[in-house]
Amino acid sequence: MPRPIVAQIHPEAIAHNLAEARRHAPDARLWAVIKANAYGHGIERVWPGLLGADGLALLDLAEAERVRALGWRGPVLLLEGAFEPRDLELCSRLNLWHVVHCDEQIAWLAAHKTHQPHRVFLKMNSGMNRLGFRGPALRSAWARLNALPQVDEISLVTHFSDADATRDGEDGIAYQLRAFVEATQDLPGERSLSNSAAILRHGERLDVRADWVRAGILTYGSAPDFPEHDAAHWRLRPAMTLKSRLIATQDLQTGDSVGYGSAYRAPRPMRIGIVACGYADGYPRHAPGGHDGPGTPVLVDGNRTRTVGRVSMDMLAVDLTPVPAAGIGSEVTLWGRGPHGTPGSLLPIDEVARAAGTIAYELMCALAARVPVQVE
Ligand code: PLP
Repeated sequence: MPRPIVAQIHPEAIAHNLAEARRHAPDARLWAVIKANAYGHGIERVWPGLLGADGLALLDLAEAERVRALGWRGPVLLLEGAFEPRDLELCSRLNLWHVVHCDEQIAWLAAHKTHQPHRVFLKMNSGMNRLGFRGPALRSAWARLNALPQVDEISLVTHFSDADATRDGEDGIAYQLRAFVEATQDLPGERSLSNSAAILRHGERLDVRADWVRAGILTYGSAPDFPEHDAAHWRLRPAMTLKSRLIATQDLQTGDSVGYGSAYRAPRPMRIGIVACGYADGYPRHAPGGHDGPGTPVLVDGNRTRTVGRVSMDMLAVDLTPVPAAGIGSEVTLWGRGPHGTPGSLLPIDEVARAAGTIAYELMCALAARVPVQVE
């Protein structure tokens, strides 16, 4: 018998979520962001769900080669551009669009011999201070790219740091939008600004949705501005379910402890279940299970309960008080769709992430290679 843990991937949820992105940002062209192996879901596994996108945005050449091998002929954008000069050769061969965010990448382009001119997305650092050129440097970079025979089209791109929230008492995108408009208003070319949070919250604004939007986390069914809004509020469906089963139960007396460090002590006689899922499967070790807090939510046979004690490498424990009929073999949903797939038995990954002090992005990307995956 294999260990009962499994991750289920739901490509039809991806298709649905991308359609929601289009509804929020009408007329914009839609990149599905599939870096980090489609946020941990597996590019090949979610493939049918991605076909409604206008373009695929990803991180490296290996991912670009995979999508071309899968038959994708549409636009592919390298979000961080070339990492070394020879990457440009493959950009030409695979017909990739690529971000240019630093002087070195411009120098590599100038030295690159190509018969096929490149389409580049010049990155503005509008406030995130990760990648890109600021104000006057942006204009100089634009002029240098414009003078290169290797470049036939220059578009403009920036990335919001706070699209899911407010910043200094105003909407989180406002300060970057001002900087972007000021620096680029008289430059020609297509523009791309919005990530998931900006698409959902501001997609109706033409200046925010611009020509291309980049839908990352919403594609996979997580609400980028949780807990202010949950995925159901945005009509998003989870694209990943992580589930397992109870492999043991224990009857505790008052004062008995659970797991390493005795982090949980039973306040009364109670039954707990042991689940075949631990941090070596990608479940967050910091998911709280102490007696002084609400714990981390899980579903047992579709009923909501919580973890107790520390997460171990291969196991975690759950309180079976709300599920007296549960026993060995009972189904445990760590996140995603419950046993019947009904909305009532859904456990949003955002809730688990929040309880564990992290974000859904990290949980999705951390799914361990040892977890078997089924495409539903
Ligand atoms: N654009 C860029 C440049 C990114 O780095 C990312 C993700 O980190 C995205 C778009 C997608 O962001 P989100 O997953 O929040 O939609």
